[in-house]
Amino acid sequence: MQRFPSMGFSVLTLTLVLSACGGSPPPLREAPAPDPTVAIVRATLWDGTGRGPVSNAVTLIRGDRILCAGSAGECPVPRRARTIDANGQWLIPGLIDSHVHLLFLTAGSATEELSLDLRDLLAQGVTTVRDMGTNPAELLARVRTLDATPRVYAMQLVAGRRFFFNGFQGVRTARGVVFRQPPAMTMQALGWTPIMYNRTDDPDSIVAIARAAGAMGIKLYAQLDLESVTKLVAAAHRAGMPVWGHAWVQPASALEQALAGQDGVVHAAGLAGELFTAEERDTLVNDGTLQVATAEVATVGAAHDPRITDALDSMARLGTFFEPTLDATRHSLAYFNAKRRHIPSEQEEYVRAASGFGMEVTREAVRRGVRISAGSDHVAYGPSNERASLFGELRLLVDSISLTPTAALLAATRDAARAIGGEAAQRLGTIETGHYADLVLLSKNPLADIDNLDSVEWIMKNGRIWRPGQLRSGIAMN
Ligand SMILES: [Zn+2]
Repeated sequence: MQRFPSMGFSVLTLTLVLSACGGSPPPLREAPAPDPTVAIVRATLWDGTGRGPVSNAVTLIRGDRILCAGSAGECPVPRRARTIDANGQWLIPGLIDSHVHLLFLTAGSATEELSLDLRDLLAQGVTTVRDMGTNPAELLARVRTLDATPRVYAMQLVAGRRFFFNGFQGVRTARGVVFRQPPAMTMQALGWTPIMYNRTDDPDSIVAIARAAGAMGIKLYAQLDLESVTKLVAAAHRAGMPVWGHAWVQPASALEQALAGQDGVVHAAGLAGELFTAEERDTLVNDGTLQVATAEVATVGAAHDPRITDALDSMARLGTFFEPTLDATRHSLAYFNAKRRHIPSEQEEYVRAASGFGMEVTREAVRRGVRISAGSDHVAYGPSNERASLFGELRLLVDSISLTPTAALLAATRDAARAIGGEAAQRLGTIETGHYADLVLLSKNPLADIDNLDSVEWIMKNGRIWRPGQLRSGIAMN
């Protein structure tokens, strides 16, 4: 039975000392105030630092910070600390989903959807998320009004001119000519705020706009060449901000992005860009046949092509992070499988190719020592069973990529914090002295079976404890 810091502790105990002799009024003696420290005792601690599990552990929390975490000998419990007995349970760092999209302004408002989604993420043990580009200023303002949310870091989307102006060009398809609006218009209809960058623009001003919007980094989305990527990465790094981007950003390839110093690339299937020549990478985008061309080249065997493995080796050497986002592709595939159409669309053929290819590229990346962050590409919109999740991503990393549960957990704790960078890299991802008190208590061992991540007893964020049921029912605990 646990005792919770928010329950049942009297603030002061006043002891009346009676005098047998009468005369002067009896003095009031104040008992010592309880120690503000919370001690979680007897759990098995997996602290995410890389050391093995510590049984019968003591984790001390004061306010929003971890005071000490380790064996009973390493962390003596202060005499009057509030104690939570976690015997037989597992204490792990709060989980980090380094790739989500939270804001979808359909019909002008997404507040209700956002609030429920963030509560649900927290209930799953996800205490930190990085929004990979929606609308930082609007998102962060909305999150500040909500009570129960993970920590939210936001990235600013940047894309090249062709993303904003494609001339409403006609695209020849099997069904005739199709007219497509510029992708930026689709985004802006959701309230997202991509910034346009031309090669001759001042990159530092883009970074300044991103920072003013509250973004902690830049997400390169599409239609950027190597020169643009290089300038934007240099400007962001001058300002101490990380740069991530899609693999690839047409025409710049994932290899070029890594060589330009980009901190991370997302989407395993995007490594298919390496299989095109520089000229193809530039022209495929213009006539809108990118998906068709990718579906043709992105076979499972192509994942072992030297152009792919060379790019992965460079990423490993440079320390470029890689987010495969396998669960999002799995959801897309499930959607098409459920449709049972006789004539697959170009989109479906692309998804089917991207699924097998991306899985095999991820296996190569792991084999070659590329740093993995387990971002899921979760979206806070639509039917909840169709949304990618961190849990789903971790299951795929274990079941399909053969990561151990420990390696998968590191990709969603310590390494995800490093992938996000900034404050997250300094204060999150591991249970260590001085870090934020973001923890998850599980009733089952996640190192034995990654599915045991669904045995959440409670979640602590910033020193405050939440129960999954309370978050999902909407009843506040404190
Ligand atoms: Zn995404």
